[in-house]
This record gives sequence, C-alpha cells and structure tokens, in this order.
Amino acid sequence: MKAKIISTALALATGTLYLSASVKLTILYDNTIHTPGTRSDWGFSCLVEKEGYSLLFDAGTQPSILAANAKKLGVDLSAIRHVMISHGHRDHFGGLQAVLRAASEGVTVYVPPKMPQAALQEISAAGGKVVPASSAVLPIPGMTSTGILGDGIPEQGLIIRTGKQNILITGCAHPGIVTIVGSARELVGGSIDVVVGGFHLSGHSAQAITGIIQDFRNLGVRRAGPTHCTGEKAIKAFRESYANDFVEMGVGQVLEFE
Ligand SMILES: [Zn+2]
Ligand SMILES: [Zn+2]
Repeated sequence: MKAKIISTALALATGTLYLSASVKLTILYDNTIHTPGTRSDWGFSCLVEKEGYSLLFDAGTQPSILAANAKKLGVDLSAIRHVMISHGHRDHFGGLQAVLRAASEGVTVYVPPKMPQAALQEISAAGGKVVPASSAVLPIPGMTSTGILGDGIPEQGLIIRTGKQNILITGCAHPGIVTIVGSARELVGGSIDVVVGGFHLSGHSAQAITGIIQDFRNLGVRRAGPTHCTGEKAIKAFRESYANDFVEMGVGQVLEFE
C-alpha cells in the first residue's frame, strides 16, 4: 500500500501524471495554544502532509515540548523524513532532536546559511543528513523552498502548490514578509493565495502594519494566518482586515487546503 502511494507521488514529481492534491498543515509549536492540553512556547513548527509525504517546517525551541505536542495531537514524529529549517535561530531548529531521536530511518534536514556549527554537528551526530538549501528544489511533489532570501539573517520559506492554490509558510520573515511573498509569487509565476507563519512585525507602527496589509491585498493574498513573532498588534490588525479569511493559528490547529 505504501509503495503504491510513493509511486503515484513519483509520477507527480516527474510530471507524467498531474492531479491536484490537498495539503494538511498541523501546527506543532507556536507562541499560542489552539488545542487545550498542548503547550505554547516561543518558537514555530508546522507539519506539512501531502500525497503520502510529510515535511516538518521548523522544529520549535525545545525537543521535549515538540515531542509532547506531537504526542497530544497524535502526530508520529518517527514518520518524518524531511525537515526544512527556515533560518538559523534556535526557536526554529532547537526542537530538531525530538525528530532525529524518534526517526526510524534517516532524516534529511534542509538548512539555511548561518546555522550555528554546533547545531549542524548535532544533526549529523544524531544520524540526520544535512543538506544546504542552496536551491529551491525539494524532492517532494508540489513543495518548494522560496530559496534563500535576505543578507542579514538569511531565511527560506516553504511554498506548497496544491494545483488549485499556492500556500506560503514563513518562519520569522526576517527578510521582510512582503519581500518574501513577492519573491514567492515570482518563483511560482502565479498568485500566493494563503500566507501563514511568523511575519515579524512587532516593532512596526500601526501605520506601517496597515501598509503591509494593503501590500498583501495588492499581491493578491486571499487568506492570512500571522502568528509566532508577528506581534499582537499586527495579528489584531490582520484579523480585523481579513475577517472570515483570517486563519487562526496556535498549537494544535489543523488546516486543510484543496
Ligand atoms: Zn528568527
Ligand atoms: Zn522566530
């Protein structure tokens, strides 16, 4: 049964067959709680499941909290073969050991530039395979990195293409959330319909936040789910502006997109 799913996925990857496929996102680590009984903490992690593949986007800060949230939510960390780290801050890679310890097979970790050397050594020592994210290509159908953006704190986001819409997940958005959305649009040559993750706007004035929401509208973003480092003021502004199209985040939230 498993082999059958993989062969379909490979056919999709090689372009011999094209079907639109839904994607499921499960928030495993966030500053806020969605599902009672989970734990919140500063950091971000989101499990992405699509066509028999699962990829963990970021891994939160503490392995114990990531493991506890996964257990509470019925997520099997040992099934994860691919991890993408957005940028080299501990609140995005610190929980990695929970995945590497649980793994029954090798885990490939796509790392950005400027990851601390000690963190890379820890991944290798735990049996993980470190792959520098030098290109946008991922070996998973319908998933691609934005490529590395920004000079100060280089960062990558994850683009998921379902065939009907494009979804962008961001870690902390240090290169600027609007810059990342714009780059993602250019890369896919089409709209970015949904943006979720950290938008990094806590230092921004109300006026600047209004301008960023307008930029989102101008870029054609139909739904937005700011969380983690976005800042309460900006989250509130997005919630008011996007209304029914605002995507609530928090640990335990499960989002499905066709
Ligand atoms: Zn950061
Ligand atoms: Zn962060």
